[in-house]
Amino acid sequence: MTKGTSSFGKRRNKTHTLCRRCGSKAYHLQKSTCGKCGYPAKRKRKCMDSVKEQRLNPRGQLLQHPVHLKDFKD
Ligand SMILES: [Zn+2]
Repeated sequence: MTKGTSSFGKRRNKTHTLCRRCGSKAYHLQKSTCGKCGYPAKRKRKCMDSVKEQRLNPRGQLLQHPVHLKDFKD
């Protein structure tokens, strides 16, 4: 058996169907949740990585006050 085109013909059971909120094919049928928007959760699912990057310094510690490089200049 190969992992490529020839084996794709055996994919019959679908795990995801169209989400009724966001419309993308990310609604998991067994979990009954959407992988994209988080339906049926009230709040929309969103990636928090960008928020963490803003508030954490390179060591992963939370910055109490945002410090900008320009503040160190004389
Ligand atoms: Zn969705």
